[in-house]
Parts: sequence; structure tokens; C-alpha cells
Amino acid sequence: SAMRDAKIKKTKTVCTYCGVGCSFDVWTKGRKILKVEPQVEAPANGISTCVKGKFGWDYVNSEERLTKPLIREGDHFREAEWEEALNLIASKFTEIKEDHGADALSFITSSKCTNEESYLMQKLGRAVIGTNNIDNCSRYCQSPATVGLFRTVGYGGDSGSITDIAQAGCVIVIGSNTAESHPVLATRVKRAHKLHGQKLIVADIRKHEMADRSDLFVQPKVGSDLVWLSAVTKYIVDQGWADERFLEEKVNGLEDYIESIQKYTLDYAEEVTGISKEDLITIAKTIHESDGVCVLWAMGITQHLGGSDSSTAISNLLLITGNYARPGAGSYPLRGHNNVQGASDFGSMPDRFPGYEFVSDPDVRAKYEQAWGVELTDRPGLNNHDMIEAIHAGSLKAMYLKGEEMALVDSNINHVHAAFEKLDFFVVQDIFLSRTAEFADVVLPAAPSLEKEGTFTNTERRIQRLYQAMEPLGDSKPDWQIIMEVANKLGAGWNYSHPSEIMAEAASLSPLYAGVSYDLLEDYNTLQWPVAPDGTDTPLLFKDRFPFPDGKARLFPVEWTKPLEFDEEYDLHINNGRLLEHFHEGNMTYKSKGITSKTPQVFLEVSPELAEERGLKDGTLVRLTSPYGSAKVKCLITDRVKGKEVYLPLNDSGDGAINLLTSSFADKDTDTPAYKEISAKMEVISYD
Ligand code: SF4
Repeated sequence: SAMRDAKIKKTKTVCTYCGVGCSFDVWTKGRKILKVEPQVEAPANGISTCVKGKFGWDYVNSEERLTKPLIREGDHFREAEWEEALNLIASKFTEIKEDHGADALSFITSSKCTNEESYLMQKLGRAVIGTNNIDNCSRYCQSPATVGLFRTVGYGGDSGSITDIAQAGCVIVIGSNTAESHPVLATRVKRAHKLHGQKLIVADIRKHEMADRSDLFVQPKVGSDLVWLSAVTKYIVDQGWADERFLEEKVNGLEDYIESIQKYTLDYAEEVTGISKEDLITIAKTIHESDGVCVLWAMGITQHLGGSDSSTAISNLLLITGNYARPGAGSYPLRGHNNVQGASDFGSMPDRFPGYEFVSDPDVRAKYEQAWGVELTDRPGLNNHDMIEAIHAGSLKAMYLKGEEMALVDSNINHVHAAFEKLDFFVVQDIFLSRTAEFADVVLPAAPSLEKEGTFTNTERRIQRLYQAMEPLGDSKPDWQIIMEVANKLGAGWNYSHPSEIMAEAASLSPLYAGVSYDLLEDYNTLQWPVAPDGTDTPLLFKDRFPFPDGKARLFPVEWTKPLEFDEEYDLHINNGRLLEHFHEGNMTYKSKGITSKTPQVFLEVSPELAEERGLKDGTLVRLTSPYGSAKVKCLITDRVKGKEVYLPLNDSGDGAINLLTSSFADKDTDTPAYKEISAKMEVISYD
């Protein structure tokens, strides 16, 4: 058989799940995956992986993989050949552009796809269609962190490498369930804490594994992080513990900033956040006494009305204490998806070209116009939150979305589904018939990472190559080829024969990647951006200067935005996050038997107090209702949560989907949904 004839093959690849970016060799025989073998030279993980990287690959052979383009006919899909599907897309896009203008079309790229694919998607939107309506799912997670860092230090990425974190005297983890969401990175922190006496402070509303291990665990009230961070910073300044030399040499805006934090006294912070004054002082003292502080944060900070401002407050604290520009210090916003960093880096943003250059900058535009041979618009585009509203308003008519499960992961999904139903033309490109694809007019079968070449960029700005282990299944194709074929049907005349040529083009245009080439990325060789023209990369940011005209960082005053308040009817606050075994909405992990055999069912974590008050037991089936929808789920009683705080893992695609409950309220600076600010009421359905 073909199976017996196939040779055993070893291919270097990069994990397709979280932003830690573990790399390893995958052993295959034909389409069969024999084993995943981590290598010492892997920069992020060495010889470690977590359960997802090790066992989460069966989805590539799932019976549910799309192998043919699908075209809608009434309420069902029929299989089609590529030629027919591509012609239909080209004619519809052309018609909609002629009738309603280029801004009636929109593009959403995927944080699971490669850098080269994100680059091509934004090029398709900008150069071929003529719109900046392009975005990616970092809008749902870390855009606020990026804004906080742009404001203060000028680059929206982790300050140093993952391995540098071990050198910190103190690690502060805020709003991140690191042990389950970024397992291999968490292992490094746990090891440094245990072996080298590194201090670990955790601030979270839920007592997760990192909290259990910490030296100090504090549970601030929902959405109050900016207040305790600013109070700790003020206390440090008042004690004379600010790093004056660092501030003098490297930072602007000290006076205005100090003025802005005067109201954050310990008393005020204790009242607003619920963290005791003693604990606030302990945090300040620990920071002062530690040689190097790294702050790790995630969605618990960003998914709020004031998510960008809280991220800014973290960076301000690090600047005041001189905790930048050396290993074992700095900001570590932890990226969720394997390539969510790269999706933004490579220009899938409504106001930025690749490498974060502004579409509003005439010189930058001129550079791209010359390279691409087209005229480009200076109108900033819609982000994905605005897109949904624009569809409802009737101005946005078409969407081309790849590899995003927007119908489940966006907030207030009943509202999102209604928008998708209104689209005149919807193209979804994915490896499965996702919930989102069910709304599409055309579905294009894409190839996952093991079936193509390209690069991913992990949370530490590290660009890593993945190599093809097997052929695309059926008629599926790598996303970059599909995008090129769509572009060419629209007359673009692109002729990339390999992703390396796409990277070479991006490097020639964007100073951030000036020296990036596939030759420098062979095997386990990697580059951390920015990469100078001579190929020198930057494992540690800000060593010589901050990327502002005068080379200095900026303290950026911010105000606290109160979280959403609901009336007494919706009396429970719902927190949400990941489980170790599953990834996000679960569209890959649920199709991997190696994973499903190892995981529990989705459940709602309920505090012992609430259980007592409502008569809830393990397994009680309840209905949660918010002003936006309702969800059904079983209870699990645990002291990981307290009081009227409940916790729902986000990997459910059915009746318990968290985003049936979430609202359209969002971070005021980025439109990142305030996923963490939801209240709901609960009713018991049954006790078994
Ligand atoms: Fe993959 Fe993240 Fe697990 Fe590493 S830690 S194996 S990148 S899911």
C-alpha cells in the first residue's frame, strides 16, 4: 500500500497552538504522524512541549477536513472545482467594488496562518481591492497591550526573550492563567521560582495554578488593575525608590506623570481594588528589592473598557523602576495564538502597513505604491469590531475571512451572526467547516501548518521557519497560494513560487525586517525583530535607545475607567479563559483524539459560598442569562473562585459558549471587546 511505501520523514516545524512558539521535529510516514520530538536547539522550549504540542496534531487527518471548495446553494453547500469558486469570488468582488466602492469589502487574516499569508492578505486588500479594511484577531486579545507599549516604549512586543525571564529577581503575573495558557513558558517561571529563589507575585480574580505557587497572591476586583498598579508606583516614588538615573537618561514626561498618579493613594487603592494596604506595600517593596522585574500579562488586563490604559500603567511602573533595557526585566504581554504577533507585525491592521508603519504617512505610502505599482488609499480602514457594525449599517457588503472562528470568538455572537446573515457575499477559508463558514457563500479549503512552508513569530518577536511535512489533503491548498489565486483572478499578476519570496518582499519594504531572509532562518535558526539590514537581530529591546526620535521612552499618564456596571438583576460576574488541554474555541483540539481523550467536559466554576446560597452541587445544570443572550452549563464547586465570581472556560462551541453572553462594549482605545466585564443571572435547570 501507499502507506507501506511511504518513507519515514523528519521535518522541523513550529507548534500551531500558543504564542510560546515551541519548535520541534515531527516524524511522519506518509500522512501518519509518528511522533513529535523536541530538540535542545529549539530556542523557546528546548526539549519541552506541552500536551497540545505533543499530541494535538491528529486534526490534520480529521475526516472533517475540507478537501474541496464549497459553494452555497440555498441552505446547503455543494462541492465545486477551484476554477469555479475563484471565478465566482472574482466576479462578486468586482461587482461589489463597482457598485459600492472598495470600502464595501473587508479582509480578516488569521493568527494561525503564516507571516507570509498575513502579508499577502493585507496586500490583496490594499493593492488589489483598494481598501484598508483589514484586521486580525489580536483585536480580540492583545491590541491593548500593543497600544500600551507603543505609547511608552515604542515597540509592541515582549522586551526580551522567554529565557531571559529566568534572570529576573521578581516575576509579576497579572490576568494570565500562564500554567494553562502558555504552559512551557510557565514551566520556566516555575523552575526559576523553585530553584533560584525568584519572587513570584500573582494578581488575578481567579486562584489558578500560578497563584497557588506564588509568594504573594492578590485578588483585585474586576477591572481595577490600573488602580493598584498606579498606587504601587506612587508608593515607590514616595519612598524615593524610583530609578532616578534611568529616568534622567532614558525617559521623558516624569513630572506630568507623577502629577497624574497623586490620587492613587494606598487608601484609595485598597477601597477600589480590595487589595489590602499591606499587600500593596509588599508588592512595592518586592519590586524595589528585586534585581530585575518582568511583568507577564494577558487577557485579564486587556479585555476591559480600559485595557489599553492598564497595559500602559504596567509599562509606566517598569519605567519608573528602571526595569527595561536589560535581561530579566521588562514587559511580557503573552500572545495567545501561535502567530498573533506576526499577523499584526505583517500589516493586517486597518491603519498600519507591515512593521507598523502608518497608512496615513505619505512617504510610507509612496514606498508601497512604487513597489506594488498601484495607488493606495490613505483612508484608515475598519477594524473587525467596526466591520460588524458597518455590516449592520449596510455600508459593508463583503468579507473575505481566513482561519478565524469569528462566529464563536467575537463578543456578543448573536449580534455577529445577524451581521453575517446580512452580508451580500462572504468568503471563508479554513481547514474545517467552522461555525463561521456555515454563514459563507463560498468556502475555500486551506492547508494547515504541517502541509506548507512559511514562518511564525512567537510572543518574544522570534521569527521561526516551518517546513512542509506532508502534501495538502485532497484539493486543499496553502493559504498563500489561495490568496495569490484570488488576487490573480482579479488581475494582480502575482507570481510568488515560494513563501521565501514573499518574505523577501516584506523585508525589502519594512525596516523592522530589513535583514530577514529564509537563509538566516534555516532549521532551528531564528531572528527576533527588529532585524538590521546586515541580519543582526534584537533579542533584547531598548539596549541602546527607545524607538522614538530622541531615543527616550515616555511616561504616559492614564486615567482609570470604571468597569461596566449592571443592575441588581445580573448579579454574577463571569470570568473566562482557557483550559490546558484545549485551545480557544477548540476548533483544532476537539478534532484531535489525542487531546479529547485527556480532557474534562466544560463546566462553570462556582464558589462554595454561591453554591451554599443557591443550593448548587457538582453537576447542577444552570442557565446563565446576560442582557445579550443565554448559555447552559453544568456547575463545578471550587475555591478557585470566590463570592459571586464564576468562571467559564472558553472552549465550548455549543450551548455553553461564553460569547452568547458577552456584550459589544469594548476597550476605548482599541475596540478590543470587554470580554471580562460580563454580568449574568443564573437559574437552575436541573440538579443531576
Ligand atoms: Fe505549543 Fe504553546 Fe504547548 Fe509550546 S506551550 S507546545 S507552543 S501549545
